[in-house]
Amino acid sequence: MPQEKNYHMTMDQFRKYGREMVDWIADYYEKVENFPVMSQVQPGQVRAMLPKDPPEKGEEFGEIMKDLNRVILPGITHWQSPNFFAFFPANTSAPSILGELLSSGLGVQGMIWATSPSCTELETHVMDWMAGLLGLPEKFKSGGTGGGVIEDTASSACLCAILAARERATGYESNRIGCTGKLTAYISSQTHSSIEKGVKIAGIGLENLRVIAVDGNYAMDPAALEERIIKDKKDGLVPFFACASIGTTSSNAMDPVEEIGKICARHGIWLHVDAAMSGTAAICPEHRHINSGIDLADSYSFNPHKWMFTNFDCNCFYVADREPLIKALSILPEYLRNKATESGAVIDYRDWQIALGRRFRSLKLWFVIRHYGAEGLRHHVRRHIELAVAFAEWVRESADFELAAPAPLNLVCFRHRNGDDFNEELMNRLNRSGKIYLTHTKLGGAVTLRLCIGQTSTEMRHVEQAWKLIQETAAELANEKGK
Ligand SMILES: *Cc1c(COP(=O)(O)O)cnc(C)c1O
Repeated sequence: MPQEKNYHMTMDQFRKYGREMVDWIADYYEKVENFPVMSQVQPGQVRAMLPKDPPEKGEEFGEIMKDLNRVILPGITHWQSPNFFAFFPANTSAPSILGELLSSGLGVQGMIWATSPSCTELETHVMDWMAGLLGLPEKFKSGGTGGGVIEDTASSACLCAILAARERATGYESNRIGCTGKLTAYISSQTHSSIEKGVKIAGIGLENLRVIAVDGNYAMDPAALEERIIKDKKDGLVPFFACASIGTTSSNAMDPVEEIGKICARHGIWLHVDAAMSGTAAICPEHRHINSGIDLADSYSFNPHKWMFTNFDCNCFYVADREPLIKALSILPEYLRNKATESGAVIDYRDWQIALGRRFRSLKLWFVIRHYGAEGLRHHVRRHIELAVAFAEWVRESADFELAAPAPLNLVCFRHRNGDDFNEELMNRLNRSGKIYLTHTKLGGAVTLRLCIGQTSTEMRHVEQAWKLIQETAAELANEKGK
């Protein structure tokens, strides 16, 4: 029988182009250091290079690749550059990229155990491994009442924690009756914005979100927290959720989890611990103290997709008790009914997240952990922290710059002594140079520069170059301004 006409790429073509693509990526990593770190395109510039309408006839693969270089690359901010010090790292690694490729190759939907047992079981297993690597309490492992799940982001993990807490606080009635208007949640002024967003989505209402003051190191003041909880209870409200951060986004501040945890335990409040970037540091025993008190937490999350060489998206979310989470999120339409689910012998991760569909994300994490081993992961994380410690020391010794906050791990907050406008202009000039990319925050009302070290291939020479460039550019600017 003659083959029916089709438009698919043949597997021979796929082999050829696939090898070319891997070569393209390898070449990219080898030269990424030379690209301007922050994309220099103007708004609309990328779209202006794209045709108005999609092609009627399929195009050659080579033509698409040409446009990758011509149209797409200039509009890329190079997060994988060793000179990327902005926001937080979104680092990756070759084993992770290969795991991700395999995940798209298998094209599996892992919503329930039955839709691909390996997708569920590898995830459970790798999450237990991860808990062991971080030295997390046993209760977060799958063998007891709790367990871990891979979410897309820390934002989703936090929303799931809020929903589970809401369900528990209403005696498992919140899904039926909706929100009571009485539940109150607690964060600090430095807590990540995703928690505020989660509170809005969960119908708690911003009027019921309490923003607790911080101390001189930008960590939550536990006395102020308890005071507010007691006041709210007196007013007939129901405190139900608090979030403590291990490493705030703005300045890497460490909330006193232990004290906050004791307060939450006294008042029956769900404690979520957000360690999105800094959590990785706990792989190293000497940094594990950052987790002290998390045995008091109801849930915990961190992002391998920030500082553990694993492609976005990959968030590890742990709960001490899976029941409230599953009760909050479980749904069973007829078309998903199956024997394995009904037997209760399997995990169906669709009940642990917002969406139904889910990717095979544990593959890339499995590849990363197996490639590096605990030893390799510890080596690179340690190295990043050493680089940040060195940079902080240079700032401390400098006459023109000062540290704006403690630098406990891989983020250094600093500023020039010439004030806000000067620091802003300094940052803009550094970023326009394309040689490094860093971003800012405000601490105590003052513009503060953030140098976050955690890109996979960042070495001492990059940090040295960055410091040299920062000093030279500042001197230039001060000269121009006659300061
Ligand atoms: C980056 C970050 C988040 C948000 O992470 P996503 O995975 O992008 O949602 C939340 N909390 C902290 C402390 C962060 O650093």
